[in-house]
Amino acid sequence: MQLSGITRKARRMDDRKKALHEAMAAVGLGAVPQSLINGALCDGAGAEITLTDPFTEEVLCTYPDADVDLALHACATAQTAQQGWAKGMSAAARGQIMQDISRAVLAHIAPLSTIEAIIAGKPIRDCRVEVAKVAEMFAYYAGWADKLHGEVIPVPSGHLNYTIREPLGVVFQITPWNAPIFTGGWQIAPAIATGNGVVIKPSELTPVTTVALVKLAEDAGLPRGLVNVLCGLGPTCGEAAIKHAAVRKVVFVGSPETGRRVATTASAALKPSVLELGGKSANIVFDDANIEHACLGAQAAIFSGAGQSCVAGSRLLVHKSIHAPLIEMLERGMNSIKLGDPLDEATEIGPISNARQYAHVTGMIAAARDAGADVLSRSDHQEQGYFVAPTVLNGLSNTAKTAQEEIFGPVVTAIPFEDEEEAIALANDTAFGLAGAVWTADVGRAHRMADAVRAGTFWINSYKAIHVSSPFGGSLNSGFGRSSGTDALMEYTSAKSVWLDSAPKPRIAFGYVS
Ligand code: NAD
Repeated sequence: MQLSGITRKARRMDDRKKALHEAMAAVGLGAVPQSLINGALCDGAGAEITLTDPFTEEVLCTYPDADVDLALHACATAQTAQQGWAKGMSAAARGQIMQDISRAVLAHIAPLSTIEAIIAGKPIRDCRVEVAKVAEMFAYYAGWADKLHGEVIPVPSGHLNYTIREPLGVVFQITPWNAPIFTGGWQIAPAIATGNGVVIKPSELTPVTTVALVKLAEDAGLPRGLVNVLCGLGPTCGEAAIKHAAVRKVVFVGSPETGRRVATTASAALKPSVLELGGKSANIVFDDANIEHACLGAQAAIFSGAGQSCVAGSRLLVHKSIHAPLIEMLERGMNSIKLGDPLDEATEIGPISNARQYAHVTGMIAAARDAGADVLSRSDHQEQGYFVAPTVLNGLSNTAKTAQEEIFGPVVTAIPFEDEEEAIALANDTAFGLAGAVWTADVGRAHRMADAVRAGTFWINSYKAIHVSSPFGGSLNSGFGRSSGTDALMEYTSAKSVWLDSAPKPRIAFGYVS
């Protein structure tokens, strides 16, 4: 029997919805996003939010914004649960539960990856890697739970002075759509390892895997209510949670524009924040580099994840003597990258994750063309979906809009440089400070570049290597504060200084402490 194009499309859409619902059921969720508060899935009462499949452009479902009331309920719940978690249980027991969560995540890689691939449009093989990394994050911080202790400080007065690292209380975390479960696990794991309660608000466009993660964690033994998930909008439930009295710190992962607003709201209530924001990272290739390796690195730096990565190597700075051959090699490479259905095992690049971002990326390419760029792109065309083919913008200077503003798509601006000094000047000539890389055979030059380029993470003959044990963060428009490693343990705790006077007579006098 022959099927018409429309029937085929409808059937494919039905199959995708079925796959999504089965995956959601496999992690204990219903077919529509719901907030998770005190262990219960609950519906908000706010405006309707629509989830669209970025591969088919069809609506997957709608759900109501969590809105203000659920945000207040979530914060109060986390406050109560945090007391039991921090005081009613040994640190070793907390670590054991986190190990169990890690195992539960590993056991559910398949449904978690399927949900992420369909809703976020991320290739299924990338999703599997990210889910496995989330399991690793819980295992890593599980190990820290009973190893975080203070110091004894040899103060000159002879007092016994020691410090205790205390949890903050409740932290509110806000995450973006480009790496939903990854950024969720990244922030939840260190927060609970250090004894905090959590309210987390994933992007309203990709909320499901964060709810699934917390649901699996609760099934694995996490006390209900310790981590609560709000499915909803920033200006409603997000701002209500920032302002809630129980929230002691806000950790935000997202764009500089929203980050500024979040930090402003938090600071008005004298609450500290960590901001993990965007970037415009320079990937610098010298003429002594292994050009094939550098080319592969440049492709991975900007095209993987369809460029929707905060650390994307979106500016390719190339020594002028190898600029033309490297761009030719890059063009050949990008023609062999497989674009397609995120659920297809062979797909290397999926669609842009949502319609708003698709409009932004295509608008930036159009602006580059208007500014006189030589736009090198693939001519193949996908029938449907928010696809943007890998694109190189050549012939623009570092002052061009596409070299200064985050595109967050598979689009790289290539710029030639003369010498080391110019490469450093160009690399640092943006408002960001997130990441960067150099490709060179000269060890001394590699270290000089690592020293001179403004970046929280810098790679030498590599790109995008990150690990939960190594600090991550940026400066300027890329934010402030650090995540991962022991730095995150510091962000999620504060030091209490305790003084004990062992002298036979109290040594208290006026003017002793100002
Ligand atoms: P976004 O700033 O639009 O949204 C991020 C989150 O903020 C979402 O959950 C959104 O609902 C919430 N939000 C929006 N308005 C809010 C408000 N008034 N109060 C509270 N919360 C609010 O970012 P996005 O488009 O989802 O993500 C892309 C951006 O994230 C890019 O700039 C990217 O570089 C950045 N990012 C950074 C990192 C990092 O670690 N540095 C990692 C991933 C993504």
